[in-house]
Amino acid sequence: MDFNEAKLRIDELKKIIEENNKAYYILDDPKISDYEYDELFRELKNLENQYPLLRTSDSPTLKVGDKISQGFKEHRHKYRLYSLDNSNNFEDLYKWYERVKKEYPNEEDLELVVELKIDGLSCALSYENGNLKIGATRGNGITGENITENILKIKDIPQKLSKPLNIEVRGEVYMPVSSFERLNEENTERGLKEFANPRNAAAGSLRQLDANITKQRDLHFFAYTLISDDKELVKTHYEALKLLKELGFNTNPNSFLVKGINQAKEKCDIWETERFKLDYATDGMVIKINELAKQNELGYTSRAPKWATAFKFPPEEVWTKLIGIELSVGKTGIVTPVAELEPVQLAGTTVKRASLHNFDEIERLKINIGNEVLIKKAAEIIPKVIRKRENEDFGVYKAPEICPSCKVPLKKEAGEVALYCPNVWGCPAQLKGKIEYFASKEAMDIDGIGASLVDKLFDCGLIKDFADLYNLSVNDFMKLDLIKEKSADNLYNSIQASKSPTMTKFLTALSIKHIGKETADIISSEFSNIDEIINASEEDFIKIDGIGDKAAKSIVNFFRDENNKEILNKLKRYNVNPKGSSVEKISDIFNGKTFVITGTLSEPRSVFEAKIKQYGGKTSSSVSKKTSYVLAGENPGSKFDKASSLGVIILNEEEFNSLIEGKINE
Ligand code: AMP
Ligand code: ZN
Repeated sequence: MDFNEAKLRIDELKKIIEENNKAYYILDDPKISDYEYDELFRELKNLENQYPLLRTSDSPTLKVGDKISQGFKEHRHKYRLYSLDNSNNFEDLYKWYERVKKEYPNEEDLELVVELKIDGLSCALSYENGNLKIGATRGNGITGENITENILKIKDIPQKLSKPLNIEVRGEVYMPVSSFERLNEENTERGLKEFANPRNAAAGSLRQLDANITKQRDLHFFAYTLISDDKELVKTHYEALKLLKELGFNTNPNSFLVKGINQAKEKCDIWETERFKLDYATDGMVIKINELAKQNELGYTSRAPKWATAFKFPPEEVWTKLIGIELSVGKTGIVTPVAELEPVQLAGTTVKRASLHNFDEIERLKINIGNEVLIKKAAEIIPKVIRKRENEDFGVYKAPEICPSCKVPLKKEAGEVALYCPNVWGCPAQLKGKIEYFASKEAMDIDGIGASLVDKLFDCGLIKDFADLYNLSVNDFMKLDLIKEKSADNLYNSIQASKSPTMTKFLTALSIKHIGKETADIISSEFSNIDEIINASEEDFIKIDGIGDKAAKSIVNFFRDENNKEILNKLKRYNVNPKGSSVEKISDIFNGKTFVITGTLSEPRSVFEAKIKQYGGKTSSSVSKKTSYVLAGENPGSKFDKASSLGVIILNEEEFNSLIEGKINE
């Protein structure tokens, strides 16, 4: 690129970046992904380095963030807030360390603190004599917005410190991913706009002129910087983090003191995937020189500290092309669309498929094959499609009218979004799905039987339903290509070994609509054998705590169906019999009592569930007026609050044991 071309491109980049700064910082409504923004920013920085004459003082590469939105008072920061230089590769990380290390040629590996880069909104809090005086946004780093009223609504932020210090504390206000998703659901229901990501939701919630709205939003705060004029207060960043904790702040538990850049890189490697287990968004790691004296010596560029750098993770969101929509038919006939994508790197893996949920979702997204779509990976394993490019129109993909597997017209239940194939007994996809699920770990747990083997067995006519599995001989397996004698033996043996499952596993394995593992478990604990379940009425099921109308109707219909009866008879003939109630009763003291367990107990929940059953009681997963007791361990969840509000008796483990031992009466 020559000088003139560079000039044109630089002007263009500056314009795009400024526009996006406005969308991001002022409107809390970004138009491009963070990753794309960083790419543009890097391109501009590189061009300016190549042609220094083209770097003007108004370039975004010399500034932090953006201006103030109307509505809040300006706040001039006592200490300037900087941005962070960042890279997305280890090479740049090593270069940064080399530059720093050059200043300290006689020292060994330097002490570094590696911490998560929380993707929220940075805030500066001024404390006088330990009292919170002002809370402000970063703004352009020199002046920000005075948002003290709103900051006071965040419970994580102490209004009084445990020591009467004069300090400034900086950190990140963020919204947990789960709360962000809930907020978006609520907004959709009310016809309001959804937030693009947790960061925007946090920013939009915090910068509300009406602080009461802020109060309703689930905002949290991680403190990561302490600034004091008293140079003796702390000597290192790591000590500062400890002090912040003592003073009453939350600091991120995943902050590590390491020596040298290699150890820092290891942490980056680990957290690149570990971060998906967290309920808050992180977009990278920040690496900081630990000694504050060194931080001072190293100083700042016009926009960022030289003593710190950020390592950005590969994007959690990325654009790619929708090249097809695969229709998959599930074990209960529900047809789901799955996006087929032009392969793309996302959060460290190559992604070729993404979830589209259902056909209403396709309508909502207004997408079709050919569209560029933004896909995102959160805690879940399969990424999902978020939206299409605004100005691109390929029409909307039409939901199918017939089953892609058996060609029978699809149906939709009133009030439900799912399209399903009603051809339960003639649809190969459904039949195969049921057999596969029957053998899965969750159900009968038959080793070695997966999708591809089921395909083969079904396609060559050896089995028509899951009961037929028990009629297979070693020879049958050997007839299939690729299956050697040894594994044929193994397959035969594992099928035979699965003949007496627990009632829960057996019920789960039948693929009854609305009867998943949990519901199957509840039902199993109510009846002592399978025939009782088969003969029970809808009313019998509805009476059970935790069983709804839909599940009750579905299970009764299932056992009335002639084809199902035939399969159950076949299973009986092959001696497949669920064990009766798997726990033996010791006493009746809990007869008619329902327990709900919450929190962490000294042993796994299943141990307590079994005990409750042994003493004649029942367990349920949700608290209602019918609940007799809540057994609460440490860190109990919302069930605890619900029980309190309903006046249900709450027991700790000790009280529970005393109750069993007859030491206390209710
Ligand atoms: P950037 O937004 O790319 O300019 O990166 C700088 C911003 O990262 C800071 O202003 C903070 O808001 C944010 N940040 C998040 N976590 C940290 C952390 N642990 N240490 C320093 N800055 C952080
Ligand atoms: Zn079908």
